[in-house]
Amino acid sequence: MRNSQRLPAQKQINPIQTKTASQHLFWLAAFAYYSMHYRTLSEHFHRLFGARVQKLSIDAGFSCPNRDGTTGSTEGCTFCRNDAFVPSYCRRTSSINEQIEEGIAFHRRRYRSSTRYMAYFQAYSNTHASIDILRQRYLQALQHPLIIGLVIGTRPDCIDTDRLNLLHDLSKKHYIAVEYGIESCYDHTLAAINRGHNLDCAIQAVELSATYGIPVGAHFILGLPGESYNDILNGTDLINRLPLTSIKFHQLQILRGTPMEHQYNTDQNFRNSILHLSLPNYIALLCDIIERLHPNIVIERLAGEVPPQYQAVPDRSFRHNNGYLLRNEEIGPLVEAEFIRRSSKQGAKFISSTAKPISL
Ligand code: SF4
Repeated sequence: MRNSQRLPAQKQINPIQTKTASQHLFWLAAFAYYSMHYRTLSEHFHRLFGARVQKLSIDAGFSCPNRDGTTGSTEGCTFCRNDAFVPSYCRRTSSINEQIEEGIAFHRRRYRSSTRYMAYFQAYSNTHASIDILRQRYLQALQHPLIIGLVIGTRPDCIDTDRLNLLHDLSKKHYIAVEYGIESCYDHTLAAINRGHNLDCAIQAVELSATYGIPVGAHFILGLPGESYNDILNGTDLINRLPLTSIKFHQLQILRGTPMEHQYNTDQNFRNSILHLSLPNYIALLCDIIERLHPNIVIERLAGEVPPQYQAVPDRSFRHNNGYLLRNEEIGPLVEAEFIRRSSKQGAKFISSTAKPISL
């Protein structure tokens, strides 16, 4: 059965299709006003620090075990193209301090109210090095006067008690969080995208990290091959059983030059195994998930936004006329509008009695 037949009846949503300044202002105002329908990162940081805190992406020069052969593979995850995921100022040819300075300048042009920043070790696997090297690079970021903490992005198979002890030590003076790419709640999907770890590995990493009192985030891709709408939605029950502080969602983006692009172009069965979520269906799926999600989990991201030059299979319903995808800040108001239409909100259908999310 083709996945398109497995989609539920399309919800009546009017996506943003234009980008005039007045429309942006309207939706941003609506977003701010109605932000009580789900927990946002900006609200979370405001509550913790009393001010807007901006994350700055850092490429600290680490590798990835799924590319350097540690997992037995040098191919990487089939969807991965790291240069598409990070902002332009995030370059390993610059020092950590230079990236922080460029990142601050970049964000000041967009969000003038930020006066404090979090160094987000984003590129590749940021616990995949010796303890001495990790400590040295984390401390380089923390030495900057405007950096108040670190968010360490990594893989679930790149963590152990030594690394968690290091993060725990740093957390005595700074905000320190760890963020795992989990991507899917299904082992067959993780194998199909060549993740090089299974779901149990991800569960153990999240649970172990939480015992150190460190806020734990997780990243998921919605619409991976072989997963139906209901498969994705049912993954929420697993998410609720993990001691997570925050979560990120991305729609599946097939990028130029990746193994997944090759599969897409050469394998009809592969193409048929993808949901091909349009923007209205994606918003409906997000809201269905968030309704089931524990009300305490902070939803840090709703969608990805790789630049046009990287998009191999662009979905026109996600795009502005200039080829750029709707930004995360533009997806938020659509989710809010759908929650208003449903008279619903995060956690409205949360029922698990075994859920363990925490918020630190
Ligand atoms: S997505 Fe992350 S784990 Fe996978 S190949 Fe890319 S850097 Fe490595």
